[in-house]
Amino acid sequence: MSELVSTRIRNTAGKLGLPHLTETINEYIRRADEGKMGYLDFLDLVLSEELAVRDDRRFRQGLRLSRLPHHKTMDEYDFSFQPDLDPRKVKDLATLSFVEAKANAALLGPPGVGKTHIAVALAVAACRAGYSGTYLRPSVLVVDEVGYQPLERAEANLVFQVISKRYEKGSIILTSNKTFSEWGQVFGDEVLATAILDRLLHHCEVISINGPSYRLKNRLKAIERENDVA
Ligand code: ADP
Ligand code: MG
Repeated sequence: MSELVSTRIRNTAGKLGLPHLTETINEYIRRADEGKMGYLDFLDLVLSEELAVRDDRRFRQGLRLSRLPHHKTMDEYDFSFQPDLDPRKVKDLATLSFVEAKANAALLGPPGVGKTHIAVALAVAACRAGYSGTYLRPSVLVVDEVGYQPLERAEANLVFQVISKRYEKGSIILTSNKTFSEWGQVFGDEVLATAILDRLLHHCEVISINGPSYRLKNRLKAIERENDVA
């Protein structure tokens, strides 16, 4: 291909906002020559690679903006460690149909069972699918660890506002070490807790994980090793 045409293609791609193409046009042409590619296949290759690069960029930017504490995925969750947890329930959530439906997901259970891990993995999957995550506007809001600290009245009121403003508008993925019946104590007010739960649970998948702590599993192994050495 003449230098003139490839320069023009690079310029045009730049103006169209296709920076990846400006860098890779020669590589594409080499592949097309090698594979004796037809015009349709060539165009298909260029467009789908450009889209993949764009999706990846958007995913990484979404992850940055989401301010998640880490980016663990569902593949890193060992379901065999929690035999009472039905993997199908979690995998159903991971299809994100609840996000599409603007419904909620609640993960309940004692410390260390992986509530935060699963909540984060769902949020990462949502980012990958192109949904945004943080407070009022985004498609997915993760509210982690409801119940570790009792809330002041003003804080409890703010939680109520967030939950009622998002009701049927955007999903909440929530984790808690408390059962819903204990939320009156967490929010310092039974009436307010009931109003919050009413909105939260109207459309909500609830998953309870009642099993051993994964944190302690690793700890106990380390202690056993130390004892073996001793
Ligand atoms: P929780 O929020 O329920 O207290 P976390 O999600 O913070 O627990 O889990 C504690 C640590 O253990 C995290 O590093 C998490 O990735 C890991 N973890 C918990 N459960 C599992 C599991 N079943 N498989 C793999 N890692 C797990
Ligand atoms: Mg947690």
